[in-house]
Amino acid sequence: MNTSIETKCLHEGYEPQNGDSRQLPVWQSTTWRYATSDDMGALFDLEAEGYFYTRLQNPTNDLTAKKIAALEGGYAGMLTSSGQAANLFAVFNICEAGDHFIASSSIYGGTYNLFLVTMAKMGIECTFVDQTLPEEKLAEYFRPNTKCVFGETITNPTCTVLDIEKFARLAHSHGVPLIVDNTFATPINCRPIEWGADIVTHSTTKYMDGHAISVGGAVVDSGNFDWMAHADKFPGLTTPDESYHGIIYAEKFGKGAYITKATAQLMRDLGSIQSPQNAFYVNAGLESLHVRMKRHCENALKVASFLKGHDKVAWVHYPDLPDDEYHELAAKYLPNGSCGVLCFAIKGGRERSIAFMDSLKLATIATHVADARTCLLHPASHTHRQLSDAQLEEAGISPDLIRYSVGLENADDLIADLSLALDRI
Ligand SMILES: *Cc1c(COP(=O)(O)O)cnc(C)c1O
Repeated sequence: MNTSIETKCLHEGYEPQNGDSRQLPVWQSTTWRYATSDDMGALFDLEAEGYFYTRLQNPTNDLTAKKIAALEGGYAGMLTSSGQAANLFAVFNICEAGDHFIASSSIYGGTYNLFLVTMAKMGIECTFVDQTLPEEKLAEYFRPNTKCVFGETITNPTCTVLDIEKFARLAHSHGVPLIVDNTFATPINCRPIEWGADIVTHSTTKYMDGHAISVGGAVVDSGNFDWMAHADKFPGLTTPDESYHGIIYAEKFGKGAYITKATAQLMRDLGSIQSPQNAFYVNAGLESLHVRMKRHCENALKVASFLKGHDKVAWVHYPDLPDDEYHELAAKYLPNGSCGVLCFAIKGGRERSIAFMDSLKLATIATHVADARTCLLHPASHTHRQLSDAQLEEAGISPDLIRYSVGLENADDLIADLSLALDRI
């Protein structure tokens, strides 16, 4: 019934029945009550459906995850406490110590660290690749123990666009799934599953929440990857789980195997649950996501065009600009606009970029991106300050790069603010 994405934003997930509250209730409860011991035992055996403890599942979270899964065109979804937890869960659900995976080197700094440092300590090795390499070159990075491929639809902070079909072909020809972090594009502007991605992740902290209220994440599974066809690669899904009475997830849950395993094992053991109150905020944010994304993109294009024409600006990257390096990929994967984030640099290098940032009045310096109020940040001195110059270069981040996240203000006011700050330097 809810065929268009706009209508899905409002009506998927929670479907109130006669006399129910119109808005999604917050089930602010740790636990659920059962009449008999056997009733609850069946839940622990994954034999019956129902709620017992919020660390494992909560209806506010599940209904919000259901909406996100519907928006992405996925089979099932789950919420996590943050985007970081979402990406950890997405990979760790299929990789074990001794395994290897491949990720684009242009991904978000937090995810880069997670994959490079923390997952290495867990015995999982990640190879970072230049996502613009041709398919034959990228194929050389696969090993017998490679278990997945990871990229971002639009990279944070460099605003490059992933060739999703190329990466999906590559992953599938090696018998592994493609995981795409779709945080910046949101399902309004791109649905990676339609282009062959198997699993989609989100930092709901960004546009989904949209108002800089709550930190959260989501994982959505398409249900399309055939784990049994590559059973030897994914024993966690295709052999008995001794911590769950010998259940074989892929056999028992079919298309729901991946999310059920991530919930039953990873959420049970790692406990990175999103609070139901935060899930409520995300669900409310999703209701206007389609309206906000349109406005973010319109504003960002105006701001990018202004900066592009200014003689104190060294360069601007925004995929919606017709002469941008990534415009062709954006036209294919993001025909209705990319997102509100763009990056640029001031002529004269790093120091002048910083002086310019300090002169802005309306746009604020914040370690945030992709929300209603315009904010900006200098990755080399903020989010990526732990990276060496060589790692910065590998990630495509020049030391003068400014990440500017265009909000929902009137674009003329933002341009006036930028113009004054540029005059001052
Ligand atoms: C912010 C971000 C993350 C991490 O999300 P948190 O909610 O901050 O943990 C992951 N991926 C992308 C693309 C992001 O922008």
